[in-house]
Amino acid sequence: MSSIKPKSSKSKPKEKADTLRIQKIQAGTVIDHITAGYALAVLQILGITGQEGDVLSIVMNVQSKRMGKKDIIKVEGREITADEINRIALVAPQATINIIRNYKIFSKMRIEVPDEIIGIVRCENPSCITNNERGIKSHFGVVDRSPVTLRCFYCKRISHHEHLIEQLQGKS
Ligand SMILES: [Zn+2]
Repeated sequence: MSSIKPKSSKSKPKEKADTLRIQKIQAGTVIDHITAGYALAVLQILGITGQEGDVLSIVMNVQSKRMGKKDIIKVEGREITADEINRIALVAPQATINIIRNYKIFSKMRIEVPDEIIGIVRCENPSCITNNERGIKSHFGVVDRSPVTLRCFYCKRISHHEHLIEQLQGKS
């Protein structure tokens, strides 16, 4: 009498959902850990419409251990710049930026919201000196990082997350 036993009771390790959804790219940028629901806002800030012809992948509201839910963007053939990263920080403060070259991660950065934001967005207060005097750059202290909330260095007006996004999207 013989019995057949399975060779191993160990199951295969689960493949990461992320790697299935976002396949490897030859060169470009992967922006991961975007605040859930904000991938399209990030694309708009980057000026990417989809009509440029570059291969673009967007995944929204997927599971994330760190964040609960998150969005991911993959842009082929384009490496985003430090200036663009600073803008993205205001919308997706937990994002990680992976620059891909030759199918490998060339550099990996976790976005950090600095203590002060100078010159990226305008003050909400129309009578603020930064909106009325030429040559005076907007200057904010960061009072909250997630969601990003700023306080004007000059008039002390608070700028909220939604307002910052609208500005960065060019809506206001
Ligand atoms: Zn102000």
